[in-house]
Amino acid sequence: MMDITTLSLLHNIFQEVQGKQDWKTALDTLFGSLRGSFVFDNVAIYLLDPQTKGLEVVYARAKGRGKKAEADAAWGSSTAIDVLASGETILHLPSQETKGTDRVAQAYLLGIPLNIGSKLSGALVFVRFGGPEFSDLQIQIGSLQAFWSAALIERRDLQEARTELDSVQRQMRFQEDVVSTISHELRTPLGFIKGYATSLLRQDTIWDETTQREFLNIIDEEADQLTRLIENMLESSRLQSKTLQFKFTQVRMDALVRDVATRVNSRYPELKITFDVQPLPPIQGDGFRLSQVFENLFSNAIKYAPDSEINISMRISDGRIRITFADNGKGIPEDYLPFIFERFYRVPGERTVSGTGLGLYICRQIVLAHHGNIWVESALNKGTTFYLELSITPQL
Ligand code: ADP
Repeated sequence: MMDITTLSLLHNIFQEVQGKQDWKTALDTLFGSLRGSFVFDNVAIYLLDPQTKGLEVVYARAKGRGKKAEADAAWGSSTAIDVLASGETILHLPSQETKGTDRVAQAYLLGIPLNIGSKLSGALVFVRFGGPEFSDLQIQIGSLQAFWSAALIERRDLQEARTELDSVQRQMRFQEDVVSTISHELRTPLGFIKGYATSLLRQDTIWDETTQREFLNIIDEEADQLTRLIENMLESSRLQSKTLQFKFTQVRMDALVRDVATRVNSRYPELKITFDVQPLPPIQGDGFRLSQVFENLFSNAIKYAPDSEINISMRISDGRIRITFADNGKGIPEDYLPFIFERFYRVPGERTVSGTGLGLYICRQIVLAHHGNIWVESALNKGTTFYLELSITPQL
């Protein structure tokens, strides 16, 4: 019968070991707390690598004599091999020749099988340099430690498997979201085109000329919307595979942004855009692609910060042009900010506003292709500011 003090001691050790999140720290605690009744110099865990079928040292600690052996756990590998071959506990005593020599040369080894998920998967090996031999009781304590170590390694494997599963599930959910967003974005304009074309083709109704033009205009706009969507998807994959061609010429950023603003204002006359611009030198850039960046920023501001005015500033700072593009809309929650330039990323809860999550990804890739930088700052209910920096001296 185990006395109550021993049981209570075991209970405390159990609690302390199980409380450690990291498996190596848990093993340190396990071996450390039992070392009072089970003295050893070094300990190591060898596991069979399922791929290479070789033995791998996954844990090693040097506590007493021969401390240098911590990094190199070769001292126990032949014992570990014997344990795996026999499936049994092995005791190795020092050879006769080492008797009377340096204590560190006289290794007393204890190797115990490690069964993980009822499969013999490795060995736990202890060494005492210069003895004494491991007693029967100590072999039992060693077996308890082996059993416990195996449980901790199994817990590690389960935690790793769960993390991997979580990441696969996240990836799958993300792919489902992308597919449903893209099909929604394709279906909406197609629905309009089909609906208005069918109406025009009806033989039982005669549409007056104004209505006909109105329907045809909608069909035309929705077809443009489809083209833009498909172009965006193609462009984003070309940008990802770095196969999109850029044509660099001299570009004046102030003129370029004002041109885009004029085009936007012709479609949205009520949109207020302010400029605060320092005289700027031209830069080397692809005017068409850089315009696309600002078209996306305007389009986002119109979608996500409706009724807000847009303030644009351009300055030179440290040999670079710094452009700020600010709205005073509802802002972006801080948790989502790190992701908004990722491909297909949409802030959750934006499903009522049309979009694919490609716009800012495209912006960022275009700016990066100019060796520039783009980032965002946002405050809830105050607004969002995009910052762009472009080099004045060519870096091509
Ligand atoms: P999309 O507009 O197609 O969803 P984007 O890549 O252009 O994709 O933008 C990513 C996300 O960033 C959007 O889903 C939106 O939630 C957020 N966002 C972009 N611009 C703004 C803005 N000016 N104000 C608030 N949120 C914005």
